[in-house]
Amino acid sequence: MEFPLADQVVAETIYDIAILGGGPAGYTAAIRAGQFGLKVALIDASPKLGGTCLHWGCIPTKALLFSAEIWDFIKSAADYGIDGIGTPVINWPNMLARKNAIITKHVKGLDFLMKKNKVTVLPGYGRLTGPAKDSIHTVSVSAPGSDEPTQVQARNVIVATGSDAKMLPGLTPDDRILTNMEILTLESVPKSLIVIGAGAVGVEFSSLFRSLGTEITIVEFLPRLVPVEDEEISKELARAFKKRGIDVNTSAKVESVEKTESGVRVTFTDQNGKTVIKEAEKVLVAVGRAPRTANIGLETTKIETERGFLKTDTAMQTAEPGIYAVGDIVLGMPQLAHVGGMAGMVAVASIAGRPFRPINHRRIPGCTYTEPQIGSVGLTEAAARERAAKNGQEIKIGKFPFGGNSKASIVDAHSGFVKIVADAQYGEILGVHIIGPSATEIISEAVVAMDLEATVDELLYTIHAHPTLSEAMLDAYGAVEGLAINA
Ligand SMILES: Cc1cc2nc3c(=O)[nH]c(=O)nc-3n(C[C@H](O)[C@H](O)[C@H](O)COP(=O)(O)OP(=O)(O)OC[C@H]3O[C@@H](n4cnc5c(N)ncnc54)[C@H](O)[C@@H]3O)c2cc1C
Repeated sequence: MEFPLADQVVAETIYDIAILGGGPAGYTAAIRAGQFGLKVALIDASPKLGGTCLHWGCIPTKALLFSAEIWDFIKSAADYGIDGIGTPVINWPNMLARKNAIITKHVKGLDFLMKKNKVTVLPGYGRLTGPAKDSIHTVSVSAPGSDEPTQVQARNVIVATGSDAKMLPGLTPDDRILTNMEILTLESVPKSLIVIGAGAVGVEFSSLFRSLGTEITIVEFLPRLVPVEDEEISKELARAFKKRGIDVNTSAKVESVEKTESGVRVTFTDQNGKTVIKEAEKVLVAVGRAPRTANIGLETTKIETERGFLKTDTAMQTAEPGIYAVGDIVLGMPQLAHVGGMAGMVAVASIAGRPFRPINHRRIPGCTYTEPQIGSVGLTEAAARERAAKNGQEIKIGKFPFGGNSKASIVDAHSGFVKIVADAQYGEILGVHIIGPSATEIISEAVVAMDLEATVDELLYTIHAHPTLSEAMLDAYGAVEGLAINA
């Protein structure tokens, strides 16, 4: 009896799903596929799973922001009745070391989950090779140190290759011109930083380094900070940032970024058309993220793209049968880890023939971990008004300030508010916008309420524990009907 050679066995393995990319979109899909008993290969070009989110995005930034929060509290220790702290000092290398330890722990966690769910992890750069032949797709994988690519066969492919920071034309990142990657490996806290772009990434790094003592200048092209948020949230953030000493420039157009002898010089036109020149130690370019889809064999397929983003249907399938796309590369989806992860679960359920709910854009929470935090879901007031006007409907707004919430006093964070946007006739919640303490946690209540189509009247009688920040939600539902208790 003859036994097949080992490489024949590898070549002959036909996976149910081959996944290209091991960030939150790809690894979530892999785990769910394993749970469904599917045979799955997870291909990642990086030696460690986790993608941008774990190594250069969500996790490292929030780990550092937590250190910054502790630092802010320690500076005011005496106000909380704690003496004898002496002179606290920031140890930036140790902050980075703590952040790195968290990443390492989670990489190990992912490796464990892959084993637990019997996912085959294949290190290497993957490319699509065209449509399926006899219902089998082939992904060409160039493994590090190997001359010949391996041909991985699978009945379905999920593409989850993620995104890269965009750069301004003519600039290359280095030790002074930074993206989210370089800024996470700085040797020391910069004395001054110009932040170009005031989306979530730009304002989070502004908030972090301001807490650590850096002079921050924000230059944003659009008329307001966090432009995707409700206008009142942007205003409140700008107010809070100015109070914290951040130089906020909106409706400002960057004309040039140059290196000086010891730092950088940014020239921009401000909102009054005046030319402003600012110098700083470093500049962070945070002007959005481009899909990483240039060299993955899309041209061999029928997959449709727009500006490099992949078009999918509601089951996350592309125009090429059997090839799905999830995560930051999908056209029209917010580039968020939790959206990518959910899209991965939707794709796998669809492949497995299991029931699923397509992603509902109105139910996606957006969280910004600045000081103060922002959490939002659904329509902004402006969008809801526009929609209502078109449909001959009306909306109602309920707004409750954290100044009236007892837990906000306890945690010494009075500024900000909860704002509810509701349909006037039936009380359907159309949007919730929070700026203030723990906004990124409290927002989950609103997502669940909206997902279950709860109305303002129902929520008015939903008991919220006391004293909690969540009680501000109850008061905000009340405010829609002029019935807030604490305001
Ligand atoms: C500074 C910053 C902070 C952020 N904070 C948050 C946050 O707080 N909350 C939030 O929800 N989102 C946050 N995000 C966004 C979040 O990081 C992304 O939405 C998320 O990482 C996207 O997941 P993904 O799986 O699509 O791609 P990625 O995480 O980018 O992973 C893609 C993976 O694919 C691999 N890959 C690429 N090409 C190939 C190939 N050809 N073959 C094989 N492998 C390949 C890469 O090595 C990588 O591991 C943040 C982003 C940044 C930059």
